[in-house]
Amino acid sequence: MELEEHYSQLLGINSPWEIYDVELKVDESRLDIWIEYMDDKGACPECGAACPRYDTRKERTWRHLDTMQFATYLHCNVPRVRCEKHDVKSIRVPWAEKNSRFTLLFEAFAIRVLNAARSVEEARKLLGLNWHQVDAIKARAVKRGLARRQATKIDCLGIDEKQFRSGHDSVSNLYDLTGGRVLDIVEGRTENDCKQLIEQALTPEQRAQVTAVALDMWQAYANAVSQALPKADIVHDRFHISLHLNDAVDSVRRAENKALNKMALPQMEWVDYRNPL
Ligand SMILES: [Zn+2]
Repeated sequence: MELEEHYSQLLGINSPWEIYDVELKVDESRLDIWIEYMDDKGACPECGAACPRYDTRKERTWRHLDTMQFATYLHCNVPRVRCEKHDVKSIRVPWAEKNSRFTLLFEAFAIRVLNAARSVEEARKLLGLNWHQVDAIKARAVKRGLARRQATKIDCLGIDEKQFRSGHDSVSNLYDLTGGRVLDIVEGRTENDCKQLIEQALTPEQRAQVTAVALDMWQAYANAVSQALPKADIVHDRFHISLHLNDAVDSVRRAENKALNKMALPQMEWVDYRNPL
């Protein structure tokens, strides 16, 4: 049928998935699309092995991008396969992530609306979602972003501490200085917090490729970096260096002043060489 083929192309649904019914309810401004899996084998979601079909789960529904003003929903009875290693599992559907009630295209669109809107509340209303749904969509987008990031090489990192609640709590931030982005944040500023921050944000391969880390002058961070990133040079930024240098100069000056005062030197006379008497 032509209409089913048209929607197959629109949704990027390919064999063995097939659209077998499309229903338009004009009075409800709603379009429903039913998809079926047409093969007696399927890939195990854990290992990808081709496994025999085991059974079919009850119908699930995903919200998709609206078609004109029609709220559009996909429906499918997703099959389960029996894998020799992983037992009975539902196969992956190409249009959505596991456990999501929205298609990937809808989620990508929702993220664009969230970025463009003045507030999450405004975006939420435009999209017709509740808070829980918005949160879940954001969390999955972050996860996808992190998965994409896994492979990239990061040369220079930055780690610093931010305090909040008037200094009662602190977080440690990890930055990609070359890419100019925040990589991850953890609560606290101990050596272990910092180590955890580095290890959860970067793969072992990425950690081996880091050449330099800019740090607050804080021993716990330096210890963590020398353990988690043994090949990276530690550098301190100009602000912190000048801060400590000023402190050092100041304390030397004060110590010398004290010592000089104790020595009770004879009063020196001040001679103005430009205006000799
Ligand atoms: Zn498997």
